[in-house]
Amino acid sequence: MDISFDEADRKFQQEVRSWLETAWPQEIRDKQARSAQGRISKDDIVGWQKRLADKGWAATNWPVEHGGADFTPTQSYIFDLERARVGAPNVVPFGITMVAPVIMKFGTDAQKTEFLPKILNSDIWFCQGYSEPGSGSDLASLSTKAEDKGDHYLVNGVKTWTTLAQYADWMFCLVRTSQEEIRQLGISFILIDMNTPGITVKPIITLDEPGEGFQEINMVYFEDVKVPKENLVGEQGKGWTCAKYLLEFERGNAYSPGLKGALSHLRQFAQAEHDSNGESFWSNPDFQRRFHDVQVQVLAMEYTELRILGALAAGQNVGPESSMLKTRGTELQQAVTELAIEISGHYVAPLDQSTPFPGDNFQPVGPVDANGTAQEYFNTRKVSIYAGSNEIQRNIMSKLVLNL
Ligand SMILES: Cc1cc2nc3c(=O)[nH]c(=O)nc-3n(C[C@H](O)[C@H](O)[C@H](O)COP(=O)(O)OP(=O)(O)OC[C@H]3O[C@@H](n4cnc5c(N)ncnc54)[C@H](O)[C@@H]3O)c2cc1C
Repeated sequence: MDISFDEADRKFQQEVRSWLETAWPQEIRDKQARSAQGRISKDDIVGWQKRLADKGWAATNWPVEHGGADFTPTQSYIFDLERARVGAPNVVPFGITMVAPVIMKFGTDAQKTEFLPKILNSDIWFCQGYSEPGSGSDLASLSTKAEDKGDHYLVNGVKTWTTLAQYADWMFCLVRTSQEEIRQLGISFILIDMNTPGITVKPIITLDEPGEGFQEINMVYFEDVKVPKENLVGEQGKGWTCAKYLLEFERGNAYSPGLKGALSHLRQFAQAEHDSNGESFWSNPDFQRRFHDVQVQVLAMEYTELRILGALAAGQNVGPESSMLKTRGTELQQAVTELAIEISGHYVAPLDQSTPFPGDNFQPVGPVDANGTAQEYFNTRKVSIYAGSNEIQRNIMSKLVLNL
């Protein structure tokens, strides 16, 4: 197996690296550094995505005919690697990565013309309305009802865990249009304008949000919400096919670029901090053993991802490997936050963890690198739950790999 980048890929890497120098501006890097969890505003996210769109790199997974970059798997990997190196975020996935491929495959010409250019240019923001109270892993049990009223559907029900719904202009939503013996058959995939009367978005405040004025997830309530029939994607009652197709894209990202960046930061943090005996964390053999254990696993992850890239580039499909990558990648993301908590010690406790800049008239409580480690730790518990929990991924592997 040859996993080295060829001449053209190395040239592409240089191009990405030098473009990011200015396209990911210092002003936003500073804002990111100030926030405990590296969070930036909706305007800054949209501005960054519009810069990507101008360059033609917003939709790395789209075909060129729709304005996408159509990167090869290796180019996508390199792009992720360079992006993670400077701390620039991935595009918010709900529009470009998730709903757009569904519209391309199942949407009408009118839907493609209406939505794809706006999604590409970040003129509209989508959220994902799949989960409901009581319907998560067992998604086919969902009960949000859409009654057929001739020219429109009347939607009633509740969605939960809806990430960034407070920013969203549109929701792609799974609704029940009929009761069938096979539950999957009565589900439809519709697009809902979030400004329609009858929709209420309420925040769910989580343990990692100690008052930065930011919440990640929401409840969304629908009360007699009128959705025009032209917003149905694919056929009525065949939404499960769209939903499954979309999930292929939800689980598509490489983990090792971000993990390598996080480990390099962790190493610097461990070298700078001292334990209660005055020894640097880095000189502690027990800490080093656990750090290197995670590092070896990240390296194995990187090689596995590169091997899969090789297979994709050769035109093969990814099968249960995506479940392996999701399980191991998210376990490692959690392991990194656990090591960071250990180095931070009691400095994980302060509530105000803003990072001071030259000229600011306050001092942080404890080392700057400890800022946000508690929030990051708590927030990262989610990664083994969403996009198909790791238990569900193990079920898939036991069936498809072990034939159990
Ligand atoms: C931070 C966050 C953001 C999210 N964002 C969104 C979003 O934007 N839109 C959206 O639609 N959803 C979103 N989700 C929801 C997510 O998809 C669900 O949480 C996930 O599908 C699990 O469903 P559940 O929470 O109902 O747990 P349950 O399905 O009730 O599972 C509870 C536990 O039981 C285990 N379990 C369940 N079934 C099995 C089984 N068959 N075998 C073995 N173990 C099993 C699970 O692994 C889990 O540990 C988000 C979730 C989180 C945490």
